Amino acid sequence: LFITFEGIDGSGKSSQARLLADHLKTEGHDCLLTREPGGSEGAEEIRRLLVEGDPDRWSAETEILLFTAARRDHLEKTIEPALAAGKTVVSDRFADSTRVYQGAARADLRGVVDQLHSLMIGREPDLTFIIDMDPETALARGLARQSGEDRFEDLGLGFQQKLRAGFLALAQDFPTRCHVIDGNRDMDVIAAEITAIATQALS
Ligand code: C5P
Repeated sequence: LFITFEGIDGSGKSSQARLLADHLKTEGHDCLLTREPGGSEGAEEIRRLLVEGDPDRWSAETEILLFTAARRDHLEKTIEPALAAGKTVVSDRFADSTRVYQGAARADLRGVVDQLHSLMIGREPDLTFIIDMDPETALARGLARQSGEDRFEDLGLGFQQKLRAGFLALAQDFPTRCHVIDGNRDMDVIAAEITAIATQALS
C-alpha cells in the first residue's frame, strides 16, 4: 500500500507520517517512511536546489520541473522497489503538494502539473491523509521552528490560506483516496483516527 500525507507547512503532517509508520512497524508491517522533496539520494540533491537560495530563484514552471524530476528519482529508486518488495510506503508529501503549491497557490498551472505527472510519474497513492489546519496556527508553528535555510519560509498567511483551500479542493478531486483530517486537535487523537483508517485499508 502506498500512503501519503499532505498539508500546509506546520500542519503536523510529518509527525503524523512518522507516528503511522512507527505504529505499522510495531504491528508487524514492513513499512518504509520517506519524504518529498527528497527520499532518494538524487532527489535529496534536487531538494537542496529547491529549498536553498533566494525566494525568487526559480519560476513556478522551473519549480514544477525540479519537483517532478525529484519525484521521478524518488519513485524509481525508493518507492517502486519498496512496493514491489511488498512493503507499505508512507510518504511525507507526494504529487498532491505540487498540484497545490505550484499548480494552484503559487501559480495557476494545474494543467501543466497534471500533464507532467501523467508523462513522468503516473502513480497515485492508495490512501492520502490531508491534515487540515487553521493557517494562523500552522504559520505560528512554522515560524517558531524556522531554520532560515528554506527559501519557502517567508510566504505569509495569505499564501497559507490559498494552500489550505487548494488542499481542500484537491480532496474533492480524489475523493476515494483522500481523507481530510482535522489537524486542530491533540496529536494522539489525530493519530488514532489515521491509524484506524490505515488499518482498515491494509486489511
Ligand atoms: O514538507 P517540507 O517542509 O519538507 O517541504 C520543504 C519546503 O518546500 C517547504 O517550505 C514547502 O512549503 C515547500 N514545498 C513547495 N512545493 C512543493 C512541496 C514543498 O513549495 N510542491
